[in-house]
Amino acid sequence: MLDNLTQRLARVMKTLRGEARLTETNIADALREVRLALLEADVALPAVKAFIAAVKEKAVGEEVIGSLSPGQALIGVVHRELTALMGEAHTGLNLAVQPPAVVLMAGLQGAGKTTTVGKLAKWLKEIQKKKALVVSCDVYRPAAIEQLKTVAAQAGVDFFPSTVGEKPVDIARNAVDWARRHFYDVLFIDTAGRLSIDDAMMKEIAELHAALKPIETLFVVDAMLGQDAINTAKAFDQALPLTGVILTKLDGDARGGAALSVRYITGKPIKFAGVGEKLGGIEAFHPERMASRILGMGDVLSLIEEARKGVDEQKAVEFAKKIKSGKSFDLNDFKEQIGQMRKMGGISSMLDKLPAQFAQAASQLPVGGEDKIVRRIEGIINSMTPLERSKPELLKASRKRRIAAGAGVQVQEVNRLLKQFEQMQKVIKQFSRGGIGKLMRGVKG
Ligand code: GDP
Repeated sequence: MLDNLTQRLARVMKTLRGEARLTETNIADALREVRLALLEADVALPAVKAFIAAVKEKAVGEEVIGSLSPGQALIGVVHRELTALMGEAHTGLNLAVQPPAVVLMAGLQGAGKTTTVGKLAKWLKEIQKKKALVVSCDVYRPAAIEQLKTVAAQAGVDFFPSTVGEKPVDIARNAVDWARRHFYDVLFIDTAGRLSIDDAMMKEIAELHAALKPIETLFVVDAMLGQDAINTAKAFDQALPLTGVILTKLDGDARGGAALSVRYITGKPIKFAGVGEKLGGIEAFHPERMASRILGMGDVLSLIEEARKGVDEQKAVEFAKKIKSGKSFDLNDFKEQIGQMRKMGGISSMLDKLPAQFAQAASQLPVGGEDKIVRRIEGIINSMTPLERSKPELLKASRKRRIAAGAGVQVQEVNRLLKQFEQMQKVIKQFSRGGIGKLMRGVKG
């Protein structure tokens, strides 16, 4: 996610860090780089201009040039302004009404509305212990109604049936009535999208909005659309009083433009981000944490939150202690961690949240088709004896060949794994010596 942008900005930040003195000239150079990186990532021009102007104003003021470590100070300013661009604090769903709280979903076809309804309903049920009902008002595509039914079943939430013969407003009113009488906390209303903005679609959703007066009207948008995401957001924002935005497909190779400009353009907060096709693939959107991720500082808080969701607490505590104590990290630990990572929604979702320096080392793990590759890694480690796992440096060529045969892989793959593991050990050592703070500042150990 946002890889290119992060890499480019991380490079600028690294150069700045090394500057003993910052002058207006080298600040201007750095900001030119930042500006280009943002434009290339498809951030809307007005948002880029406002951002650069804000950074410049603070940077040439005393805040940076007069400070003890000007590079650090400038990075601080960039981080704060990136956060501000995306909207300060996290804004959750507003459900503070007489139940049911009606949540209307708007967006183009394929944006991810139906999937997001499933994700949010599941999240509300599991984390917030709320009872949710879902209904589809897409009377144009019977398959869309079926899809929501399937998603609801997967999410373990109730589905209110509808048919293509009904009017969207009638379906929605009946669902609200049913939800009220059956004490649902939240009702999600999925609506019909079109492939592009069209008057009939806008009119229909505006009518639904007028009839239902939902507490939340969420605009769902595919982050991969880049500039088009922003244009669509603008059109929906003009047609409907949106209360928030949900960015989907941030797990893909989105260039980041939408994440950085949608708030500036619509003035509406990004409430959640979709990060995968599975129903667990949703994250609360925290502008401050996203800014850290984009600058390659990592998002340790989200990582910890995710770890809490899927991981055995006891084991996590033991692992943290082990790392902190600086004890060696061997292949037995590695195997266990891989298993835990799998529970946490895959390796790529974690890499996005690690500080750039660590992620770089870890990304040399052969990711992509992750599950399969992770199983191969596990296969290799399983073919070793416990002693070999704790002292892989003792492995001789003949033994490596046997391990490869046991795991059904080429010997090169065993060598690659050992090499990557060695690099990872180095990073972990550094981690245990300097702690998170040091790693996040990117100081070489
Ligand atoms: P709708 O037409 O707006 O209801 O969109 P859907 O919910 O049917 O989603 C369209 C496609 O996008 C489906 O194949 C989903 O699996 C996929 N999708 C939705 N959200 C995400 C996401 O956050 N990440 C990824 N990778 N795919 C997503």
